[in-house]
Amino acid sequence: MKLLIALQDFDSRIGHILVQKEEGPKKIQRLEQRLKEVEARLTEEAGQVEALIRERRDTEKKIEDSEIKLNKSNLKLSTIKSNKEYHAALKEIDDLKKAKYLLEEKAIGIMEQLEALDASCAASREQAAEMKRQFDAEKEAVMRSLDRLEHELHTLEEKKLGVARDLDKELLTHYDALRKRKGGIAVSPVVQGVCQTCYLRIPPQEFNELIRGDKLMTCPNCTRIIYWGDDQEYQRQQGDGEPA
Ligand SMILES: [Zn+2]
Repeated sequence: MKLLIALQDFDSRIGHILVQKEEGPKKIQRLEQRLKEVEARLTEEAGQVEALIRERRDTEKKIEDSEIKLNKSNLKLSTIKSNKEYHAALKEIDDLKKAKYLLEEKAIGIMEQLEALDASCAASREQAAEMKRQFDAEKEAVMRSLDRLEHELHTLEEKKLGVARDLDKELLTHYDALRKRKGGIAVSPVVQGVCQTCYLRIPPQEFNELIRGDKLMTCPNCTRIIYWGDDQEYQRQQGDGEPA
């Protein structure tokens, strides 16, 4: 029974390390995903800035053109003799002024948009730089922890093999099958009459048998191999098995 408890302890710790080994790379992946998102946003914003700058240049050119036209129309005005032509020219000047005003309004709008976009770009750049730093640091930490976990795993596997060698072959097969079927836990302590894995109260007569400890017993509910967890000797042994 002690061997089985030790085996379960090693297997649980191995399982725990395997889970930990998955966590690091997952965290890295999440960070990388977020970094990519920020970088994509930055690229998109930079594209928007370029488009706005082109539009601003275009608008400024149109304003220049309408100024030239206005000057021409003003010059023409001084040469006109007939009243009818004079009114037509005035109307033309008025229309040109209106069009120029609209273009100037548009230019102001573009400038405002550019200012806002510049601020947003600066924030995104800063965020991307910060995330890159975080990502690099995390990646290094994960690499180090993977090394450590790999080492721990190797040590535990060795110790487990040592225990498994001393265990009865048939019992070992039963243990392995049970562990596979039962989510990694084949051996469960019973503390104050309760199975510590499925939390069923063991009937008193069976609990008494368990305390006597002269045969291998299983939990009537979850069918795991059970042992008397209140037993001082088992508790001491478990305490020794814990990592420092
Ligand atoms: Zn149980």
